[in-house]
Amino acid sequence: MQTHIDPSFQSDPDMPEAESILRACVHCGFCTATCPTYQVLGDELESPRGRIYLIREFLSGHPATLKSLEHLDRCLGCRACETTCPSGVRYGRLLEIGRSRMEQKISRPVADRAKRLLLRKTVPHPARLRPLLKLAGTVGPWIPPALRKKIPPAVSGPSLVPRRERAVEGGAQKQQVLVLAGCVQSVSTPATVTALETLLGTLGIRAVLPETAGCCGALSLHLGAGEEAREFMRHNIDAWWPHVEAGAGAILVPASGCGLMVREYAEHLRHDPAYAQKAATISGLAQDPGRYLLEQGLASRLEKLTGLRIAFHAPCTLQHGLKVSGAVETLLESAGHTLTHVPDSHLCCGSAGAYSLLQPELSHILRQNRIGCLTSGTPEVIATANIGCQLHLQAASPVPVRHWLELLLQETAENRESLS
Ligand code: SF4
Ligand code: SF4
Repeated sequence: MQTHIDPSFQSDPDMPEAESILRACVHCGFCTATCPTYQVLGDELESPRGRIYLIREFLSGHPATLKSLEHLDRCLGCRACETTCPSGVRYGRLLEIGRSRMEQKISRPVADRAKRLLLRKTVPHPARLRPLLKLAGTVGPWIPPALRKKIPPAVSGPSLVPRRERAVEGGAQKQQVLVLAGCVQSVSTPATVTALETLLGTLGIRAVLPETAGCCGALSLHLGAGEEAREFMRHNIDAWWPHVEAGAGAILVPASGCGLMVREYAEHLRHDPAYAQKAATISGLAQDPGRYLLEQGLASRLEKLTGLRIAFHAPCTLQHGLKVSGAVETLLESAGHTLTHVPDSHLCCGSAGAYSLLQPELSHILRQNRIGCLTSGTPEVIATANIGCQLHLQAASPVPVRHWLELLLQETAENRESLS
């Protein structure tokens, strides 16, 4: 596609990349077939091709408008379009560049800005999020049901992921890996992280959770606070670096959305002279836990039992972002579980970070569509690989929704008990 970047952006270090992505798009429209927002809204400007057009117009010098920003905001960032695109257009990266520059030129409505600020100041901080969720649990009966369903649970007691160094013992520990517990996951579903630690322990691998590692930065990035996101990234790199130098073999993140973010640290910090090199190393070490456990031979170590009927919801960040498919499914089947057929498995559930809070109507439609597909094979439980999808689906699902790591860890009888 012919592109002329406006001279006002010429000193922007990301413009050569944006220009090359724009030029790669041949306007064929294949991507529209798999775009969830286009499928629901049927508007070209709610499709990848339409949004690429809007970003091109803006970077070419056309004034930013709130209307254009709204079309970009309605994008889930699911990257199904990247998987479909025959020209390899890196739409997700273009969206980040285009939307962040547009946000610098125009101001969002006050209520929108306030909501975004509130999310940024609470969700990535477990010490603030936990008491808020506990309070919400206490006053739950007085909260309107529609809002109550959006609030994740806060787990209390000893099962909380401790903010300290720790390792699960398991035979002769031949190597160590770093594990990121994350922010929402460490508060709402700490058992997922414990399950990963235990599974690693059975393989003789030591899981290390540095005390100071925290939010991956994805939420801030998606809410238009790029520098705040990069601060979270630098903070995690500093927390991990001594362990990387000591030989940590991988960085595993149970939440695929956070895992994708860590995989892309190199991209986001490449203009930072102090961190670019370290970020490249960190990105190279980031691995999906499913693929890692499979490569380490976990499948042959699992006892085959008469398992559960499971519908696997592959998060967009896993299948379109990290481009991992089949690893979780292989592990679940190796443990004796049966996977049900899930139609349209490429589609987003509508969670997409803060999307379910910022675009509730569209998110609700996408979730209902997804649950219809996921339950069509009459599963006993839905498994997924991302905390956001898990909580979002659970709020409306007729069957329980769990992280696959927890389902893999427990024996079948315990599984059924824990679902009831
Ligand atoms: S993003 Fe890819 S699939 Fe979509 S219009 Fe451009 S070239 Fe075609
Ligand atoms: S990222 Fe998802 S919602 Fe956004 S344009 Fe691509 S397919 Fe559509």
